Amino acid sequence: MECRVGVISGDGIGPEIVAEAKKVLDKVGEKYGHTFCYEEILMGGCSIDATGEPLTKEAVAQAKASDAVLMGSIGGDTRTSPWYKLPPEKRPEAGLLALRKELNLFANLRPAYLYEELKEACPLREDIIGDGFDMMIMRELTGGLYFGARKTEETDGVVTATDTLTYNENEIRRIAKRGFDIAAKRRKKVTSVDKANVLDSSRLWRKVVDEVAQDYPDVACEHMLVDNCAMQLVRDPKQFDVILTENMFGDILSDEASMVTGSIGMLASASLNDTKFGLYEPSGGSAPDIAGKGIANPIATILSAAMMLRYTFDLDAEADAVEQAVKQVLKDGYRTIDIMPQEADKRAAVTEVGTARMGDLICDRMN
Ligand code: NAD
Repeated sequence: MECRVGVISGDGIGPEIVAEAKKVLDKVGEKYGHTFCYEEILMGGCSIDATGEPLTKEAVAQAKASDAVLMGSIGGDTRTSPWYKLPPEKRPEAGLLALRKELNLFANLRPAYLYEELKEACPLREDIIGDGFDMMIMRELTGGLYFGARKTEETDGVVTATDTLTYNENEIRRIAKRGFDIAAKRRKKVTSVDKANVLDSSRLWRKVVDEVAQDYPDVACEHMLVDNCAMQLVRDPKQFDVILTENMFGDILSDEASMVTGSIGMLASASLNDTKFGLYEPSGGSAPDIAGKGIANPIATILSAAMMLRYTFDLDAEADAVEQAVKQVLKDGYRTIDIMPQEADKRAAVTEVGTARMGDLICDRMN
């Protein structure tokens, strides 16, 4: 298969971690007979430096012409970088928001997986962790409270602020379908999260999810109120497979779920539209504090590339191979600085490696 991958290396650690993900994709290509053609796309601070804009029309066109986009991270130190003296719409992050909009990326996927070897980074009790957990938070990304009409007005000397939470049935149906499709490729369970005891938008959400569920008889569907879900994530995370939810609930729950897995350097993500196209990126930022030192953890970006293989290119066996190689490297005791154990005796039992070496080790485990 020939795969056209747009690559946004971006700023800070972005180019370092993306280089390792490309190394792993090339290994996949060599082993399974695929060709990955990369096209570099400028976005973020590096684009501001080169063109004066965080995202140019050419960059949007390049992204649209790709099958998928693999991204590192964008942005700099918000206290010191000159990019943050620019008006908000000219700053690095404005480029990412504009690109998501241009590409109509309405579904955000964030896996929360606990690796056996990194169990000690999990803040939950051992009896709660058990054999670990493996869930996918699927968040609607382009509707709801963050995109509804808002105003702040003063009446009789009292200031009132209003935000509106709106969803139409089509917006709910398209994300629900995506959620069920993904659950069908996993452990076949969807937990749809809402606040249907209070909100009209949630009652519609629940109704439409139930309708979509009819088309997926092999996938179990349950509904959970968001306050209960926040509690269940730390009480019994093993119960979840795919958590399907609207924008704001997903924003909060995905951070909670990722926190219980440990390091930010391990967290992949994907943003999808209603074609096979996707934007794949690590959940962390550009980490300006460690940029250029060769110590950033490339695993989140490598796992994001594995999601690209699975969701854009339907290369499930290849995605499994990358994920297995990551597990094996951790099992073999290799760690980047962010996932090193805290205690001296446990540190002595593992080997600290830098960004490029971690990429090489993962490629080796794919042989
Ligand atoms: P950050 O995620 O960049 O860093 C937070 C901490 O996590 C830092 O100590 C950093 O060293 C560490 N860290 C992050 N990724 C790591 C990795 N792969 N390996 C090892 N350690 C890692 O968050 P921040 O410092 O708040 O933000 C820095 C910049 O990144 C800002 O400009 C912010 O706007 C931007 N940002 C971009 C994205 C994106 O590109 N999607 C997301 C979040 C933040």
